Amino acid sequence: MTPTPRLKGAWTAKIITLFPDVFPGVLGASLTGKALQDGLWALDTIDLRRFGIGKHRNVDDTPTGGGAGMVLRPDVLTAALAEAQKGSAPRDQWPVIALSPRGKPLTQEMAATWAKGAGMTLLCGRFEGFDQRAIDTFGVQEVSIGDFVLTGGEIAAQALIDATVRLIPRVLGNQASTEEESFSDGLLEHPQYTRPNDWGGQTVPEVLLSGHHGDIAKWRKRAAERLTKERRPDLWRAYCAAHNKDPEEDQEL
Ligand code: SAH
Repeated sequence: MTPTPRLKGAWTAKIITLFPDVFPGVLGASLTGKALQDGLWALDTIDLRRFGIGKHRNVDDTPTGGGAGMVLRPDVLTAALAEAQKGSAPRDQWPVIALSPRGKPLTQEMAATWAKGAGMTLLCGRFEGFDQRAIDTFGVQEVSIGDFVLTGGEIAAQALIDATVRLIPRVLGNQASTEEESFSDGLLEHPQYTRPNDWGGQTVPEVLLSGHHGDIAKWRKRAAERLTKERRPDLWRAYCAAHNKDPEEDQEL
């Protein structure tokens, strides 16, 4: 892809992938796409194939010890990683992340930390994944987007980048919208409504029409608590512990 325009010092994602053409993909649409065009953040793809071995530019080989599939070679991976690090900030300020179902689960907190940095290098796997020695040698952090297995790391990389760049100042335009949403306060977000107020007999909760900001905030908080308790007992327990709350307390609205 052609390099995107960028403002000096713009947050940059360097992506090592066998499929550079799938970027920016969905990141090129809507608010992240506009911010990319405006140079608020930037994307550099590095084609892993360029570092392949021999006439056929091989990047993978069969798993040592047997088994199905192919594994990405350590020499190929580290050559691409070394290239990505050229011109990047020092390693302690520039995370190098491999997308992997075995990685640490991605959280809002991780995205918020990365958004404050200068950028990151992302390594997208394919086939059975990476030779472990490349991961260990380069001190690569493994990150997962959930307990399921994708065919490759590209969709996961786009999810991770989306979660991160929307937290970069001016990307969303409306900063407040990231402060009140799910996970930022340890709770899932309350239900949202818009017009019409009466939709085929289904009305919106009365309090939201009252114009009373205090009551509305209270309703939303209780609705968020009830939803979190119902759907995410793990988050609910952590929230209660942090707020000295009884997790069994009734969340009735
Ligand atoms: N054999 C591996 C799965 C390989 S899937 C295992 O069982 O752990 C191929 C590639 O898809 C991975 O190298 C990784 O880059 C990507 N991938 C698959 N699932 C993912 C997930 N949940 N999160 C992040 N990346 C994932």
